[in-house]
Amino acid sequence: MNSISTRRVFASGREIEYLLERKQVKNINLRVRADGIIRVSASPRVDASQIDDFVAGKAPFILKAMERSKRISKFEDDFQRELANVKAGKKTNLKDPAIFNEILDEIYPLFIPYGVKKPVLRIRTMKSCWGSCLVNKGIITLNRKLLMKPRECIEYVVMHELCHFIYPDHSKQFYGFMEKLMPDWKERQNVIRI
Ligand SMILES: [Zn+2]
Repeated sequence: MNSISTRRVFASGREIEYLLERKQVKNINLRVRADGIIRVSASPRVDASQIDDFVAGKAPFILKAMERSKRISKFEDDFQRELANVKAGKKTNLKDPAIFNEILDEIYPLFIPYGVKKPVLRIRTMKSCWGSCLVNKGIITLNRKLLMKPRECIEYVVMHELCHFIYPDHSKQFYGFMEKLMPDWKERQNVIRI
């Protein structure tokens, strides 16, 4: 039978609490969930002190992942609050969604010489990506949450998706092309990740 217990280890100057599940697995597995909870699974045969050592050894990774999940949930909260403000007709920090088409209108002309037809934009609230595209259907889908990001980040996502109309994958050629049209795309990508 599987059993779950809570354990604590001290590492990197702080206490780390984790959920230990005993089950038939080969190795010690560690995962930091999106909500920041640390889950470890290990066989009942492995000594608890050995698991503590394993978790302590992973402290830098764990703390980084927890920091990230905290940032993400703060971002989610901010976004939901701003969305509620918009719905209530209150003052908001969300950008006007018209910015998406404005940016497409600015960037698209670069793709005309390559025979790319102007895509249609779809706006959705998405969990795991900023943008996606259906090249055959001529559709680019953008994450509504981009309205919380600086303009240069939205430009970066639109540019990335447009480049897929020429290179469908993330090949060397794709990034080479991206580099040519937007030499600072990496900096923009870093900003979007914050
Ligand atoms: Zn892509």
